[in-house]
Amino acid sequence: MVFPQPDMTAFPELAMPPRVLLGPGPSMVDPRVLRAMATPLVGHLDPAFIQLMDRTKELLRYTFQTANDLTLPISGTGTAAMEAAVANMVEPGDSVLVCINGYFGMRLAEMAQRYGGDVETIRVPWGDVFDAAAVKAALDQRPAQVVMIVHGETSSGAAQPIAEIAQVVHEQGGVLIVDTVASLAGVPVLVDAWDIDVCYSGAQKCLSCPPGASPITLGARAVEKLEKRATPVANWYLDLTLLRTYWGTARAYHHTAPISTNYAFYEALRLVAEEGLEARWARHRRTAESLWSGLADLDLTLHVAPDYRLASLTTVRIPAGLDEAAIRTRLLADYNVEIAGGLGELKGQVWRVGLMGYSARQENVTLLLGALRNLIR
Ligand SMILES: *Cc1c(COP(=O)(O)O)cnc(C)c1O
Repeated sequence: MVFPQPDMTAFPELAMPPRVLLGPGPSMVDPRVLRAMATPLVGHLDPAFIQLMDRTKELLRYTFQTANDLTLPISGTGTAAMEAAVANMVEPGDSVLVCINGYFGMRLAEMAQRYGGDVETIRVPWGDVFDAAAVKAALDQRPAQVVMIVHGETSSGAAQPIAEIAQVVHEQGGVLIVDTVASLAGVPVLVDAWDIDVCYSGAQKCLSCPPGASPITLGARAVEKLEKRATPVANWYLDLTLLRTYWGTARAYHHTAPISTNYAFYEALRLVAEEGLEARWARHRRTAESLWSGLADLDLTLHVAPDYRLASLTTVRIPAGLDEAAIRTRLLADYNVEIAGGLGELKGQVWRVGLMGYSARQENVTLLLGALRNLIR
């Protein structure tokens, strides 16, 4: 028995509307990156691909502002890089402290538990940030081998200061994992200067690449912890002791790298280096400030205080009585503009507007503000 051949009139050729992506990701993609994706495949051990891997690692070190040798893209979305960080650093019984000020902090805590960590959490309201004293107080109560924190919380729009927290963690002998999925290449992330031990990100936010390659970098303390593990990493696919033999000099087969995704990722990193990180940070800042002042003109207020507002993701308070979901539906239907609603604690209370990578352009701000002006009246 063979299932009947599908009626192909029900399956038209792929066609997607030309969306302006101003949500928390994915962001829009430079046409150069899309063209790179259409390059014919080579094998994942082809000398040409190996050269591409080396160049990718080099550009990634610039993007992360690090000299770390163990720097590579994980095959998967930002969550895979997050899971790689947790799976490689947390051994069963390790004491773990997770600083939670939004949705992604909760996800880190959940993962740390699943890998056998003895997890404690500290929390501040979504939209606030931690100060180093609060982290120190928690570590004085109970030292932790691993501390986790999100730099740019996409659920709240807060940018967490990192350097002082890293110092507190190190004074007490732990390693610090920092999530920069929504911030890397959009706002300053200085892995070596801030002394971050494990830093990971994603492709589809400020790097403006289709999701599928997610960078991670490990410093000396993290590599030492990895090498001293008493138990093998519980996740085989994300095991960095294996992955580094493929991405390092041994080139041992581990899994087939997503070839086209790596083409795109390389081109996206080239775009970052060509623009220069400082110019790119300034562009994100400029575009965000233009959005913030335009929203103020519409009498809309922002959820996060100016001092630690994340340029790549803005949370806008929703005025009382407004049907926020209806406005998002019309933004998409009438203007092709995507923004997002709130998550968790902030559901129904905020809109989330991303100005990330290729999306972070004045013309997009002008379009969104004009559309909101029409829709809110
Ligand atoms: C988007 C995001 C993730 C998860 O990345 P995916 O690509 O959706 O898997 C993790 N952390 C933060 C802060 C994010 O914004």
